[in-house]
Amino acid sequence: MHDSPPDSGSATRRRFLVGGAGALAAAPLLGTARAFAQPRSIADPSQPLVPDANTPGPDEALRWLVEGNERWVAGELLHPHQTVARRLAVAAGQHPLATVFSCIDSRVPPEIVFDRGVGDLFVVRTAAQTNDDLIQGAVEYGAEEAVTPLVVVMGHQRCGAVTFAVDALNNGTEVPAHLVAVVEALRPAYEAAKPLPGDQVDNTVRAQTRLTADQLREDPLLAPLVAEHRIQVLGAYYSLDTGCVEFM
Ligand SMILES: [Zn+2]
Repeated sequence: MHDSPPDSGSATRRRFLVGGAGALAAAPLLGTARAFAQPRSIADPSQPLVPDANTPGPDEALRWLVEGNERWVAGELLHPHQTVARRLAVAAGQHPLATVFSCIDSRVPPEIVFDRGVGDLFVVRTAAQTNDDLIQGAVEYGAEEAVTPLVVVMGHQRCGAVTFAVDALNNGTEVPAHLVAVVEALRPAYEAAKPLPGDQVDNTVRAQTRLTADQLREDPLLAPLVAEHRIQVLGAYYSLDTGCVEFM
């Protein structure tokens, strides 16, 4: 059993504590998931998988995600927080560790690739993690109301939506219905990636992830929280082949 007790702290109290923890933890956040490996959860499954609900800062939240992804890559899933007890514990309130904004792709379900459970993640998904005001509002909600300390924008290998958009923009193809909105949302990433050497789709995926993370960092509500190290906004790239999440 890896369930943490229900949190009775107020949002204000949590905000204060999250800010404190985040300010203390300003380690660099670059590299692959494996580089962040903290083997204790794999070596000792009796260790709680979520720290006290009032205390995680951005770096600690990141570590839980990295460790979960380690387990996914290694095929050593613990399926934390997927019990009736957990369901009951979070029924009255939630304090997710992170907001994950990712693609709709069926092969990239955030709770699975980070080996998390109920109440652990806010998940926002659109084709190729394309952003708009509604999406940005959802991410703001997670940061402002639930004080989620970490926002991860996650693109992925061989993204079908990006492939579709790149083909349409390369060839000037007419795109039907609301798919136009997806293609147009990806146009800045397409333009940014076009001059780069290498795989155009992969470069566009990474550009889209980077640009979206930048948009969120500059969000008027999120920017002050980022500046105060209360929250961290990270780009990430998921490999379909290995299951590994690389934080950008
Ligand atoms: Zn995709």
